[in-house]
Amino acid sequence: MVEFFLIFIFQNMDRDTRFDIIIAGAGAAGLTLLWYILHSPSLKTKEILVLDKSIQPVNDKTWCYWESNNLDLSEFIHHSWGELEVGAMGNYISQHLKDYSYNCIRNGDYAEKILSQTKQYSNITFKETGIRKFFNVDDLGVVETDAGTFKAPFIFQSVLKPPDFNQSKVDISLLQHFIGWEIETDSELFNPDKAVFMDFNVKQYNGVTFMYVLPMSSNTALIEYTLFSGSLLDEKEYETAITSYLSDRYKLEESQYKIVRKERGAIPMEDRQFSTWYCKNVMNVGTVGGLTKPTTGYTFTRIHQQSKSIVSDLENGLKPTTEKASSYRFRVYDMMLLHLLDTDPKMSLKIFHDLFNRNRFDSILRFLEEKSNLLQELSIFSSLPYTPFFKAIYKMKHRIFTGA
Ligand SMILES: Cc1cc2nc3c(=O)[nH]c(=O)nc-3n(C[C@H](O)[C@H](O)[C@H](O)COP(=O)(O)OP(=O)(O)OC[C@H]3O[C@@H](n4cnc5c(N)ncnc54)[C@H](O)[C@@H]3O)c2cc1C
Repeated sequence: MVEFFLIFIFQNMDRDTRFDIIIAGAGAAGLTLLWYILHSPSLKTKEILVLDKSIQPVNDKTWCYWESNNLDLSEFIHHSWGELEVGAMGNYISQHLKDYSYNCIRNGDYAEKILSQTKQYSNITFKETGIRKFFNVDDLGVVETDAGTFKAPFIFQSVLKPPDFNQSKVDISLLQHFIGWEIETDSELFNPDKAVFMDFNVKQYNGVTFMYVLPMSSNTALIEYTLFSGSLLDEKEYETAITSYLSDRYKLEESQYKIVRKERGAIPMEDRQFSTWYCKNVMNVGTVGGLTKPTTGYTFTRIHQQSKSIVSDLENGLKPTTEKASSYRFRVYDMMLLHLLDTDPKMSLKIFHDLFNRNRFDSILRFLEEKSNLLQELSIFSSLPYTPFFKAIYKMKHRIFTGA
C-alpha cells in the first residue's frame, strides 16, 4: 500500500516537473517562440512551461526592424516610417523606402498581446522564478530554478550565456550603448512619417556617436543618444547630450518638453562565435544564441527567423537545426566594419556618410539584413573608400582566413 502511494506521488511529481517544451526566458526570443508555437496546430496542445524572473509586461524596450519576408506583425506594430534620414559630415540625406517600412514594436505591448493569446490554453504553464543553470540527464534537458527543477526533451533558453562563452575567440569587443528619452512637446515639430536612422552630426568624443530619433506623432518622439565604444558613460553624459541635441536641432529648451519615459541599453558588438547548444537538449536562442548582428545590434528579425525554423523542425519531429546567424561572407563584412569602428572612428564616419550618400537606402537595408547578393554587395563596396577595408582584412586575417 505504502509502495503504491509512493509510486503515485512520484508519478505526479514527474507530471508537475516534466514538460514537452520549456521556454526559459520570456523576453523577445522566448515570447516569439511561444507565439509561433501558438500558431502551430500540432505544437500548441503540448505541455509547455515558460519561465522568467518576471512575466509582467513593461514597455522598457523599443524594438525596430525592417524586413522583406512578409512577417505579418501588424497586430504588434506601434508605429511605422516610410522615410529615413541619416546625418553625417554636416549633411542630411533623406530617402523614402520602396521595398521596406521601418517598424517599431514596444516590448510591453508585444508581451501583453502574446500573453493574452495564451489565456485559453491550460497546457501552458507560466512560472516566475530565477533560473540558475541547465544540464542534461539522459535525453532530457533540465533547468534548475529557485522554484525547483524542470525537464523536457527540448529547452529553449535566452537567459544564460553558454558555458563555453569565455572560451570563444574575440578580437573586438564593443558595445552599442544608449539612453533614450520619450518626450512630449507643446509644439508640433516632428514628422511622424520620417525617422532619423542615424544622425552622426553630433560631437564625437567617445567613439562613433549618433542620435536616433523616432517620432511617434508630431509632438512625441523617442530620442536616443547612442555610441559604439568599449565602455559605458555616466548616465549624466547621455542625458546632457540629449538635452543639447534637442536644443541644437529642434530649438527646444528644457521647459518646452516633458520626459514621458526613459529607455537604456547596452547591446554587445563582438566578433564572437556563439554555440547553438548549451548542452545536448538545451538550445540557446536570442541574444545568448548569437542572434545579434554585431555591427548593428539588430536582433528582432533574426529572432523571428529562428523561431519559425525551430517550430517547423519540431512540427516535423526533427531536432532544431543549428544554422549560424550569419554566413561566412557576412561575418567577414562584420569583422571588417567592427575593426574600423574600434580603431578608426573618423574613417568610420566617412564610410557611413558615403554609404548613405551613394546608395539607395533600400539596398543598404537589404545588405544589413544579409539578404543581398554578391553583386549588390560589390556595388555597395565600390561606393566606399577601399583602403581601410583592405587594412581591416590584413589586421583580421588570422580570423578571416581561418573560418571567421
Ligand atoms: C533597450 C533595447 C532596445 C533594443 N532595440 C532593438 C531594436 O530596435 N531592434 C532590434 O532588432 N534589436 C533591439 N535590441 C536588441 C534585442 O532585440 C533585444 O535585446 C531583445 O530583447 C533580445 O531578446 P532576448 O530574448 O535574447 O533577450 P531578452 O529580451 O532580454 O530576454 C531575456 C529574458 O530572460 C530573463 N532572465 C534573465 N536572467 C534571468 C534569470 N537568471 N532567471 C530568470 N529569468 C531571467 C529576463 O527577465 C528576460 O525576460 C534592443 C535591446 C535593448 C536592450
